[in-house]
Amino acid sequence: MPALIEQLAALTGLRDRDALDAGLVAAVADLTHARRVAVHRVVGDDGAQRWLTRAQRGEAGTTPSLASLWSDSQDQPTLDEQPAWRDCLRLGQMRPWHAADRLSLFPLPGQGRQGGVVEVVSDRALTPNQIRGVQAILALVRNQLGLLDYSERDTLTGLLNRKSFDDSFYKVAALPALELLPEGQAERRQSTVARYWLAVLDIDHFKQVNDGFGHIIGDEVLLMVSQLMCSSFRYYDQLYRFGGEEFVVLLRCAAEDEAQLAFDRFRQRVSSHAFPQVRHLTLSIGFTDVRPGDTPVAAVERADKAVYFAKNHGRNQVRCAEALVRQGLLIDDDKASDVEFF
Ligand code: GH3
Ligand code: MG
Ligand code: MG
Repeated sequence: MPALIEQLAALTGLRDRDALDAGLVAAVADLTHARRVAVHRVVGDDGAQRWLTRAQRGEAGTTPSLASLWSDSQDQPTLDEQPAWRDCLRLGQMRPWHAADRLSLFPLPGQGRQGGVVEVVSDRALTPNQIRGVQAILALVRNQLGLLDYSERDTLTGLLNRKSFDDSFYKVAALPALELLPEGQAERRQSTVARYWLAVLDIDHFKQVNDGFGHIIGDEVLLMVSQLMCSSFRYYDQLYRFGGEEFVVLLRCAAEDEAQLAFDRFRQRVSSHAFPQVRHLTLSIGFTDVRPGDTPVAAVERADKAVYFAKNHGRNQVRCAEALVRQGLLIDDDKASDVEFF
């Protein structure tokens, strides 16, 4: 029991979702002495949902999954390809689903978003005490995730807030891409390997919305823009409200032209959307690549310059900072200062 209490105490100290899933697996494995414990979560948009294994512990110890950062969602099983997991989550009940295999599944309801299951494979059926212990661990993790949401999400839109941006950015900027891939998969994934792009999205003439229709309608517009963002970008793209009418996207995408297309599709979606009362609304978007060793301040500044350029050249457009530099329309301070410094 003291070991379990130590595990629980450690879980309450975690402020990171990846670490929480890994900690959850470790605590359940220690409590149940299971051969294998894994956390599978549902990811993806309605109708195209898949299972993502977030962390697992088997013979080789606990391995937090990096899948969310690089995997092709096509490689992950669809909801229906794992019917026992799907039914466990839908019914919301713990069950020894396949007693012969000593497989137990525990539902992991999501708070305001998609949930998952915890899979336990053990030599013997779990005792009632072990089951209660696992359920207590799950309750603790759920509460911890609720606290994380509270501190990391914007209250109006539910998007991530600026506070959580730096950590995510550094994780992405530190990704040495290929080295993170499991053995044997590097070559096949080379062409689609994770690269991230940072975009700043700024609503055009938003002051006029507030002045013309009032702040409540203004807030409603912000909420609708955030909903359009959620349904336009992929689950592995990270969406932020930076405050006011400024949004940020960390987009996972292989190449600049694809990123340009993705942002342009979103721009068009907003400009063709009929907002209540306001009717027509447009966005200016500036984006930049996230470079190895990049800092949040430097990358946001590059994207901001591209937004500024878009604002000064007619608004309602997407501009890439690197493309502007190539065209001689913008100076890359990063490179300029490198030259001076070295
Ligand atoms: P531009 O096209 O140059 O971006 O023009 P703009 O009017 O959008 O630009 P600016 O950044 O000067 O104005 C942003 C306005 O956003 C100022 C403020 O009235 C409004 N605003 C900021 N935060 C909020 C908010 O939380 N709710 C509402 N309703 N309005 C906000
Ligand atoms: Mg602004
Ligand atoms: Mg604006």
